[in-house]
Amino acid sequence: MNYKLRLASTVLLINLFVILLTATSAYLGYRQHQERAEITTQNLAQALENNLINSIRRIDVSLLALLDIDRIHYSEHRKNPTLMNGHIEQIRARLPEVDAIRLTDKNGLLLAGHDVLNSASTNLSDRPHFIRLKNDPTAELLISKPQISRINNKWVIVLARRVNHPEGGFDGMIFAALTLDFISEQFSSLNLGPGGKVTLREEGLGLIARYPEPDTMHRTIGNKDVGPEKLALFTSGKTQATFRDKDPDHLERTVTFHKLQDLPLYISVGLSPSDYLQPWRDDSLKLAGIALLFLLASIYATHVQYRAWLNQQKTSEHIAHQEALYHELVEDTPMLVVRYLPDTRIIFGNTAYAAFLGVPASEITGKQRLDFIPNESDKEQIKTRIAALTSENPVAVHGQHRAKGKNGQMRWTQWTDRAFFDSTGKLTHLQAIGEDITEQKRTRDIRAARMRLMEFAAEHSMNELLTATLDEVGSLTESTIGFYHFLEADQKTLTLQTWSTRTQREYCKAEGAGRHYNVDDAGIWVEAVHLRRPVIHNDYATQENKRGLPPGHAALLREMVVPVFRKGLIVAILGVGNKPTPYTDDDVQVVSLLADLAWDFAESKRLEAELVAMATTDFLTGLFNRRYFMKQMDSELARLKRVDITRAAVLMLDLDHFKRVNDRLGHAAGDAVLKHAAGTLQGELRKIDTAGRLGGEEFAILLLDADLITAEIFAERLRAKIANSPIEYDGHTVNITVSIGITVLQVDDANSETALSRADDALYAAKRDGRNRIRIADVAGGRKQESNLPKPV
Ligand code: GH3
Ligand code: MG
Ligand code: MG
Repeated sequence: MNYKLRLASTVLLINLFVILLTATSAYLGYRQHQERAEITTQNLAQALENNLINSIRRIDVSLLALLDIDRIHYSEHRKNPTLMNGHIEQIRARLPEVDAIRLTDKNGLLLAGHDVLNSASTNLSDRPHFIRLKNDPTAELLISKPQISRINNKWVIVLARRVNHPEGGFDGMIFAALTLDFISEQFSSLNLGPGGKVTLREEGLGLIARYPEPDTMHRTIGNKDVGPEKLALFTSGKTQATFRDKDPDHLERTVTFHKLQDLPLYISVGLSPSDYLQPWRDDSLKLAGIALLFLLASIYATHVQYRAWLNQQKTSEHIAHQEALYHELVEDTPMLVVRYLPDTRIIFGNTAYAAFLGVPASEITGKQRLDFIPNESDKEQIKTRIAALTSENPVAVHGQHRAKGKNGQMRWTQWTDRAFFDSTGKLTHLQAIGEDITEQKRTRDIRAARMRLMEFAAEHSMNELLTATLDEVGSLTESTIGFYHFLEADQKTLTLQTWSTRTQREYCKAEGAGRHYNVDDAGIWVEAVHLRRPVIHNDYATQENKRGLPPGHAALLREMVVPVFRKGLIVAILGVGNKPTPYTDDDVQVVSLLADLAWDFAESKRLEAELVAMATTDFLTGLFNRRYFMKQMDSELARLKRVDITRAAVLMLDLDHFKRVNDRLGHAAGDAVLKHAAGTLQGELRKIDTAGRLGGEEFAILLLDADLITAEIFAERLRAKIANSPIEYDGHTVNITVSIGITVLQVDDANSETALSRADDALYAAKRDGRNRIRIADVAGGRKQESNLPKPV
């Protein structure tokens, strides 16, 4: 809009200037032509005046000469006037403008003249000039009004002088007739143009001669019609002027009006503007034409210019639009976009890149790209990548390196670089498009660590697995310290479990493993337990309330502890420490994931152990179950059969009248009695012995390296112990006794059942003999033996 206005006003101004110039030049041209016309009329008038005055003076001198001659020969001439004719003719011949020279007597009768003989009777006494000459003795040359000659009928003006008698007194007039045709002829020699006009008027403004002669010439002689200007001038008495006037013929002219010195004649030379302004008109027309052409040309040029401008406007709008699109694209993309010079000086970085670096977007330009890459080997890798780019091969994809992101965080990034070259093949700048792949990389790394740990778990113990987990966590978080401790269900007791390999090697000697630690006594390294969430202490030294670290712990710079939850309770904590840069939420994520995983591994290891226990032990008493006990007997029997130098005794036990306990005090009391008996039994065993619950209230014991005597002593001690250990249950004292049957493993025993049934037989004998006693099986022939020991009381 602004541009349109500016363009239009400029063109308008230029055109106004051109028009003004044209007009000025036309005006000046007009003035010049006008002035020239005025000067021309003045010059012409002057020239005509000179001519006429010369003629008149010459004629006057001639008349005076004739008067002189006449005076000398007066009497002869009056006697014979024709004598005069010779002189007259002689003089007239020298005056071509003069039609006739004549002489009258005092009465006005023609006396002499070259043609007077033919008209001797012509009387001129009525002519006004004759009358004036006659009446005025001092009169000089008189000039008549136009009149028709009475001799030859030509239009003439007469130049007359008074003839004085030699003795004084009027004696006639001498005159020369000047034909108007002659004057007109003189005028016609002037070049006045088609509209020009010359007039000669007498005293009273009556017309004497005019050129060009109108058709009605003869009737207009003596006509006094003149233009208003001329009339005013004449009336004012001025003798000379140049002006513009409108003649009675309605033509406007530039006129110079002149009185002929002291003569009563007025000459006027007029030039028609339509003539003298013609060249000016032509020039002006040409000029106007040029101006018009210029106007048209400038309008056309303006139009073209405006169209070009519109086009350019459209183009630049299009470009601006494209630019905006590109910018939006580049600015809105989450990809990191950076353009930089070959020396890595940044010339542009998009919003994502600035945000990634934690630098205000306005300050990104001018910084060095390499300054954000702390690792020397990464820097070298980038330089090598850039150097390898050529105009034939300007793109390099998938370069990875570490970069210092916002808050000094180390991030992993992946880049595609493109180089730009000028027409001479010189590298001008580069563009890199990248992304922050820290998360992806971490996810990948965690997955890989998980896989490794799962493989590891199959072949290793829980503690080895926890250590391996801590080692993985250590390398993922760049931590040199790592520990994993269990928390009891009371949420107070921490069981120190294990440390990472590096921690064990460099910091502490893993002392205190298995030790219980009250979280209330611990320092802020167990804050995660109190707060029930992950806790980071990035500047451990300045932390108050540090209190203490677990035994053998080295100095902590910074640490991070993450709790592991199961069913709303914290079951373990995993801690890492001494990462070179501060811990972040990303680290929390990694550590939480692996701590959780470690707990699952530990849990499965524990469940595995439980399953094994469940398969071999009796749930109620904690003794081995029948199946396991029998297996133990089988393997002992097998060894016996292999080497035959080992001995083993088998004891069968059955509580006496146990049914009564159930009946009297209930099944739960019975269970308590069973547990009590089993505990007593277990307490009497050596490490190498095995006890099992075979079913109900029946137990069996395998005594290794024992003969019948040793076994009997052991059985007696056990019997007495049980008999002397009453149980307090629900306000009741329960006394129990036990019957025991004993045998030894025999090489020829078919299987463990054979030996067991032998012991069972002995037990049955003990029951039969009154209970609370011991019986030994007869090994050789199945005969039952009495015990050698003293009988119980
Ligand atoms: P005796 O052996 O002296 O002949 O008399 P007794 O009362 O012990 O007789 P018996 O061996 O026939 O009885 C075994 C009883 O033990 C039968 C059953 O109710 C009880 N019993 C077996 N298993 C359990 C158990 O696990 N808990 C309880 N409370 N009782 C059990
Ligand atoms: Mg029984
Ligand atoms: Mg019994």
